[in-house]
Amino acid sequence: MGKELLGIGVASGAATGIAIGRAHLLAPSELDFRQYPIERKDVLHEVARLNNAFSIVRAELDELRANVSPDAPNEVRAFLDLHRMILDDSLLCDVPRDLVRQRLINAEWALAIQLEEVCRQFESIDDAYFRERAQDVRQVVERVLKALGTGRPATATLPKRREDGERLVLIAHDLAPADMLHLKDRTDIGLAGFVTELGGPTSHTAVLARSLGLPALLGAAGARAQVAEGDLVILDAEAGKLIVAPDAAELVAYRQKLKQQTEARFALRRLKGRVARTRDGVAVELLANIEAPEDVRDALEAGADGIGLFRTEFLFMNRDELPDEDEQYEAYAKVARAMKGKPVVIRTLDIGADKVLNPTARKSLGMAQGAPTEESNPALGLRAIRYCLAYPELFLTQLRAILRASTVGTVRILVPMLAHVHEIEQALAFIARAKEQLKDAHRKFDARVAVGGMIEVPAAALSLPAFVKRLKFLAVGTNDLIQYTLAIDRADASVAHLYDQLHPAVLKLIAQTIRTGQRARTPVSVCGELAGELSMTELLLGMGLRQFSMHPSQILPMKEHLLELSVKSSAKLAARVLREHDPMKIRASLAGRRSADRSV
Ligand code: PEP
Ligand code: MG
Repeated sequence: MGKELLGIGVASGAATGIAIGRAHLLAPSELDFRQYPIERKDVLHEVARLNNAFSIVRAELDELRANVSPDAPNEVRAFLDLHRMILDDSLLCDVPRDLVRQRLINAEWALAIQLEEVCRQFESIDDAYFRERAQDVRQVVERVLKALGTGRPATATLPKRREDGERLVLIAHDLAPADMLHLKDRTDIGLAGFVTELGGPTSHTAVLARSLGLPALLGAAGARAQVAEGDLVILDAEAGKLIVAPDAAELVAYRQKLKQQTEARFALRRLKGRVARTRDGVAVELLANIEAPEDVRDALEAGADGIGLFRTEFLFMNRDELPDEDEQYEAYAKVARAMKGKPVVIRTLDIGADKVLNPTARKSLGMAQGAPTEESNPALGLRAIRYCLAYPELFLTQLRAILRASTVGTVRILVPMLAHVHEIEQALAFIARAKEQLKDAHRKFDARVAVGGMIEVPAAALSLPAFVKRLKFLAVGTNDLIQYTLAIDRADASVAHLYDQLHPAVLKLIAQTIRTGQRARTPVSVCGELAGELSMTELLLGMGLRQFSMHPSQILPMKEHLLELSVKSSAKLAARVLREHDPMKIRASLAGRRSADRSV
């Protein structure tokens, strides 16, 4: 058996989660960042070296930014902008110059001191997202250090395609967004996947890995010491492991698995144009969750019946200037146009908790010093609709942009995290106000745009009559509904074992929402992660759910599964599960289902 290294697997929906190939180790740097004292007469020279290195990296990032292809995911531009911002921050470009002058040390030394200081500040922040940004600072400084040493940009040197035709798996200490872009441009090298020693689940590397469509393993500590150049490796993103020098049996098994996965994915495409109809003839809508306008391509490729959730907050994150009405309109209209009349549910800004705006952006909203409000429980704080109601201009700008996009497709507005009737009423009043503003400006919009609400707070699930009376549709956000029902912070690893989607309380709230929606003839969808889980489909179907919204990569496997189910037997299962109080028993009754007799 080969040696196994563990990490965080990242599989993109577009590809299989397996890569088999020869390892190519990317050296972090062959440069020796020597640190030495200098004489006063050399200060100007060292400062000039620093200035020159910063200019080289600036030019490199600007060139990359200018050449990002128009269909690249938005994150790519956002990450390059972030790195450009870090580079221009006076903490990094001015302070090292002062250190050279005051302490009489060489440029590399000054930069290294300041790097550690800035990273220490980031790493002391009690927020995983911000802590991970220390990694971005390191990546930027490493580029400057390399430019200091060589006088050239620090682009990772990529190997040539192997002559024996075998594919490559890159093993790196870390890959900066700029390096990832170089990888994307170099499809000619036969890259099958990559492994990095750094990087957490919310790192930019992880996000980009998904959008580049390559399987990856992140946070595989010590990978470069354990793998030799040219080693045969198997990357299994689903299992979160890298097998180094697999034995013949492992290799045969994985080759077979890769072949099957590739064929299965290919074969599923035959279902693209087919209606997801159960064996007893009930049609189910399979909708896509997207985070950026570019994701609409994946939704179309999967044959989605519409966009069930467009998480717009990603248009607002990782940037200093918030998108204005026109920029937002373009983004929403792009999706609406591409979906050609199929419904597009655009969720209003769900910022707060783990999704934060940049400090400069917050400052532009008038927030004191751009600081996140000092909430000890941000998930229970100023988030989503609460945030929007607190910053009316931000909300109105977005509403006008969404309303304008309603002229080019079937657009619906979805409001997140509602708990109170007065919040629904305020949100509706804001929408009415945005319409008035558009009328005054002689802008067109569809006056009948449907407005719906997310059911993701138990208080909402327990006051449904008030919701169905005021809203045209409901979307159950199970990710948050579970978090808030069970009082489990969904971002806190230490309580992750208590985050149980099969808790009877959670299941009852979901079932109740679906049932109340049916009675009131108010469509209900589920758009949390569990809507894309095959193990939950039969139960949700049995509860009466007819709209499932999920990551585009889950749509075709879900359709294949639904074609085999019957509503009649699903309903029996749901009734049995909903009578049960013991999650273990619920788990057991679902576990046996895929092989169980599902005869009508
Ligand atoms: C949810 O809470 O289930 C949901 C879909 O919203 P998000 O994951 O964006 O909070
Ligand atoms: Mg949510």
